[in-house]
Amino acid sequence: MKSLGKAPILIPLLVIIPLIGLGLYVVPNLFDTIPPTLTVSGLEKAKQYRGSLTLTIAALDEKPGLGSLTVQIDDTPPIPLNSTPTESTFWVLQTTEFADGPHKVSVTATDRSLYKNQKHYTLPFYIDNTPPKLHIPPEILRVGQGRTLTLFLQADEPLAAIEGKLFDKSATLYPTSSENLYRSFLGVGVTSTVKNYPLTVNAIDLAGNETEHTFQVEVNKTKFARGGYIVLSPQKQQIMMDRSKGREDNAKRGAAYAKANEEAKQLWEGRFIRPTEGRLTSPFGKYREYSTGVRRHHYGTDIANVVGTPIYASNRGIVTLADRLHIYGNAVILNHGQGISTSYNHLSEIHVKAGERVEKGQQIGLMGATGQATGSHLHWGMVVKGVAVAPEEWTERDFSSP
Ligand SMILES: [Zn+2]
Repeated sequence: MKSLGKAPILIPLLVIIPLIGLGLYVVPNLFDTIPPTLTVSGLEKAKQYRGSLTLTIAALDEKPGLGSLTVQIDDTPPIPLNSTPTESTFWVLQTTEFADGPHKVSVTATDRSLYKNQKHYTLPFYIDNTPPKLHIPPEILRVGQGRTLTLFLQADEPLAAIEGKLFDKSATLYPTSSENLYRSFLGVGVTSTVKNYPLTVNAIDLAGNETEHTFQVEVNKTKFARGGYIVLSPQKQQIMMDRSKGREDNAKRGAAYAKANEEAKQLWEGRFIRPTEGRLTSPFGKYREYSTGVRRHHYGTDIANVVGTPIYASNRGIVTLADRLHIYGNAVILNHGQGISTSYNHLSEIHVKAGERVEKGQQIGLMGATGQATGSHLHWGMVVKGVAVAPEEWTERDFSSP
């Protein structure tokens, strides 16, 4: 009787077990509430883009599997993407098909469950396919020999990079406190040939669009004073004729001036001040003759007074040289940033150390006649991007603003 008793139980089991099995599969799949996973790469939030860019989209749904994957720009119709659950899909966005400005990309992954669980990805970004425009009034820049050329460039949008080139030298342009206004200072040599020079500026915006513009720089003649015969003692004559001494000095000075070119920050403030009290004995650029037979321009401004007269920093800066040199005697060089340096020479005493930060008007030493000096005076120099220029010009106006 045992076999007869089992049959009625077995039949329902044959029906129930598959039903349970089906239920175990269908219920978690059909009534699944877990959305797919979705990762999108290739775009960064609020960044600017140009040309074509590729988005890498990876969407996965464990169960019941991915139903659809779409990508949408702004409110345009969603574009269905061919998706295989385990692989990444690449989608190329042609930014030129859209206007410059803010946009939004939306990616949606939907699973096959009854609830159609979704995972969304949205990201705001910018499209910019227009090169930046540069404005400079006027198109022709005029500057004299031995003077400082200031270049202010107004861009119509923020820039990622801007670089100029004049006299085959790079002219770094630095941002100013005004929006999209860039600035550069260039020294024009005392002996620069009088003619027009092309100044090429290359600018790249945040999206990578590039623009190039060439301006003209008209270098005009500066009438430098002539005359003056400087009698040096036999010992000083010897030092002057010993080229190795001059080279040694220039190597140290060159290294100090290079530090100002590396300093992107503006350390100075407003106009520069005359660094000492005294008589102006030799202006910048004066063509002079030495008892050694050497004839050359004077690359500084001489102010004479008694030994011990205080010498003050022309403006705020960092000491890049505080040393005893052969020709320049006890010398101090200050880095004011953005390629601007001032030098103070023939001092009897130096009161600062290299690396020290000094304020405008701070005493840095005392006047003297050390090095190749015929009497107590300050040889005050100014160097802009490696070129000696007239320092007085910087006391007459504020070069910081246009
Ligand atoms: Zn001098």
